[in-house]
Amino acid sequence: MKHQRKLLITSALPYANGPLHLGHMVEFIQADIWTRFQRMQGHTCIYICGDDAHGTPIMLKAEQLGVTPEDLIADTQKLHQQELAAFHIALDHFHTTHCPENQQLCEQFYQLIKANHGFTEQTINQAFDSVKQMFLPDRFIKGQCPRCQAPDQYGDHCDACGAIYDPEELINPVSVLTQTPPVIKTSNHVFFQLPRYQQALQAWLNTAHIQPEVNHKLNEWFEQGLKNWDISRDQPYFGFTIPDRTNQYFYVWLDAPIGYLATLKHFCQQQPHLKFETFLDPDSEFELYHFIGKDIIYFHTLFWPAILMSAGYRPPSGVFAHGFLTISGKKMSKSRGTFIEAQIYRQHLEPEHLRYYVASKLSDNIQDIDFNYDDYFNKINADLVGKLVNLASRCASFIEHYFSGQLANSLPDLDQYQQFVNQGNAIADCYERRAFSQAIRLIMSAADQANQYITQHQPWKLIKQTDQQQMVQAICTMGLNLFRALITWLKPVLPMMAKQVEQWLNIEPVDWDSINQPLLHHTINPYRPLSERVTTKAITNLKQAVTQPPSPQPTNLPADTSSKIAIADFAKLDLRVAKIIAAETVEGADTLLKLTVDLGYEQRQVFAGIKRAYQPEALIGRLTVIVANLAPRNMRFGTSEAMILVAANASKQSLWLLAPDQGAEPGMRIS
Ligand SMILES: [Zn+2]
Repeated sequence: MKHQRKLLITSALPYANGPLHLGHMVEFIQADIWTRFQRMQGHTCIYICGDDAHGTPIMLKAEQLGVTPEDLIADTQKLHQQELAAFHIALDHFHTTHCPENQQLCEQFYQLIKANHGFTEQTINQAFDSVKQMFLPDRFIKGQCPRCQAPDQYGDHCDACGAIYDPEELINPVSVLTQTPPVIKTSNHVFFQLPRYQQALQAWLNTAHIQPEVNHKLNEWFEQGLKNWDISRDQPYFGFTIPDRTNQYFYVWLDAPIGYLATLKHFCQQQPHLKFETFLDPDSEFELYHFIGKDIIYFHTLFWPAILMSAGYRPPSGVFAHGFLTISGKKMSKSRGTFIEAQIYRQHLEPEHLRYYVASKLSDNIQDIDFNYDDYFNKINADLVGKLVNLASRCASFIEHYFSGQLANSLPDLDQYQQFVNQGNAIADCYERRAFSQAIRLIMSAADQANQYITQHQPWKLIKQTDQQQMVQAICTMGLNLFRALITWLKPVLPMMAKQVEQWLNIEPVDWDSINQPLLHHTINPYRPLSERVTTKAITNLKQAVTQPPSPQPTNLPADTSSKIAIADFAKLDLRVAKIIAAETVEGADTLLKLTVDLGYEQRQVFAGIKRAYQPEALIGRLTVIVANLAPRNMRFGTSEAMILVAANASKQSLWLLAPDQGAEPGMRIS
């Protein structure tokens, strides 16, 4: 009897301001394969994730779209869940960091760490946008690199020469929000005293599962000396307020990892047999593993375990980092046409093919992996279709046509079968170590052996000899049993194909050890193709799609799309001339104006994101164009009952209201 393990597994939380792309999918596929493998071994796994829903970028994006952050993150969460299901990611629960469980846990952590004297206060200088009235994160300041003078570089590092610096060092810095120079303002912040946990962290690292490259990086950080960590942010911010501070919020990077636990807590509330508190216990019987990208190692191997230990909770059992995904050797970038959204991918290619391709590239180290179209084309067609599916279909056709779907009562060579199946131990070992590419190589070499077996025994010749019929049945039964072993080993990677095979072979869902008993004296169902070849056309279409404008964001604004619509679609729009009869600013909204417009037959209230471009009083009396039949939208400040049309430049920094020529009257239909 194998020792039964209990595992809690997480994928890093995707940020809730945009769609999932193939880079996200690499991580979800990696964690999902590992989870499915562990489940096939009979271990108990809870696999959870959720959206990372807080912070300045989400606040600003919602404002730009004219929606509340709550609406933005709720829409994004739905999109993310859809995408994860489409790629067969077997999460037990997908939640969000913007939930009452997380708020309560963040406050609980804060109080516990405070009671353990884990915090200190420090006064800091920060860049402040006095037009926008907000402190600017480093990413929201741009200027000339202080080292190489390259223009248009971020406040924390230079893309041109790789220099790392403080925003104050930038030459001619401007806020990316208002293009005005930031001023320096001081503010008092809460810091977590990370250096106090250095010894405890080093002791933890000796026992935790950490990759050698990551350990090496950590030792560098220890040598440089750890620094206190600022866990507070000033308003305006989208997040949770810190209980005993005025106008300050928990930094998103504090509440995000706590969000793993909040998701678990929310899940436990639906699962009466699970007790959330037992997971936090230093003696918990659950092992805890985080799958992450290599860019967030610092947060997961220093801050997060230290925060957990400081609150008196258990640290992770291991942190598994992976490299970035490149597309044809290039960094993913929208402008270069190398940014592939998950949704765009699956409009052209199969999600399971991506799972197979990613598995064939992933190892246990943190090297980047490359998505290469030609390599993808060859791997799917040569390995998956040419070796695996082909073996199934050639054996199936004999069993179906000559033996009514009936498998033989014995195998021609049981020892040979046993030797074949024994390869499963080495394959399991690769999965356990997350050396998936190695597992795939072993499985494909086994697939070669299985195909050779059929080629050597030539059932297509034997079937013509009347005294060899039973032999053909036995050979093809062997072939199908070898195939059953192969698909069992691939089940963590290809769960849907495995399910299809289970239905076809008319068997119970396989676990890792099912194949120890060969399938004999058994009737199978008619064979249907398990997977199709990838066509060059599909690849070309995907390449074309990714060089086109990105898919619409979750927004009520019209999407930027190059697809054509029929005249009937256009006729659905009720565009009208409207007269602005009142305009005022909105308390708490930086970009919005509240307008009242007259259509002649009725008046409407509209919230428009045009404050940056227009003084409210200058608008009164003007004629403009609105979408009159847009469904009313509930916004934080009230209901918007129509939409004003504006022209905007790419950054949406400059806006121009549309206006009809002289003589047009309120209420006129535009067609
Ligand atoms: Zn530079």
